[in-house]
Amino acid sequence: MKNSLKTSFPSLTRNEALARGIAAQFTMLMDPTVEELSDVRTAVSEAVTNAMIHGYGDEQGVVTLELSSENDELTVTVTDEGRGIEDVERARQPFYTSMPEAERSGMGFAVMEAFMDSVVIESEVGRGTRVIMQKRIGVHE
Ligand code: ATP
Ligand code: MG
Repeated sequence: MKNSLKTSFPSLTRNEALARGIAAQFTMLMDPTVEELSDVRTAVSEAVTNAMIHGYGDEQGVVTLELSSENDELTVTVTDEGRGIEDVERARQPFYTSMPEAERSGMGFAVMEAFMDSVVIESEVGRGTRVIMQKRIGVHE
């Protein structure tokens, strides 16, 4: 069975919880374990927070959340049209942050990788960033 949902929202802090909730509701339809559901919420939270804080910073922009499922495979895509990432390999290193003064720990991408089966980052400076994450859900052998 296939299912999909696409939604866009302004990069307001309060919309991070909204995005997390939408992702959780969508994942619920796939009969997840409690842990799988929590993993998806956390990964979406990290990706959306990054789009807001790093992608747009003090400016306001639009964040797009796309969810799709095919059988037991969940795909979550978070897209911003913000400043983009200069060096994606460096950005995904654990503990790398471009905002140490803001007490960021640089663990967002590491968390996404730990909680999802795969994380792909596509980014272009001045154009924006897209994070595509996949995870198998609800396969309780
Ligand atoms: P933490 O997530 O632990 O609060 P962090 O956000 O700095 O800290 P990561 O989420 O791992 O750490 O991101 C690493 C770095 O990648 C960021 O510091 C930022 O420079 C860059 N980055 C991540 N997402 C984006 C984005 N959507 N747009 C622009 N830069 C980004
Ligand atoms: Mg982060």
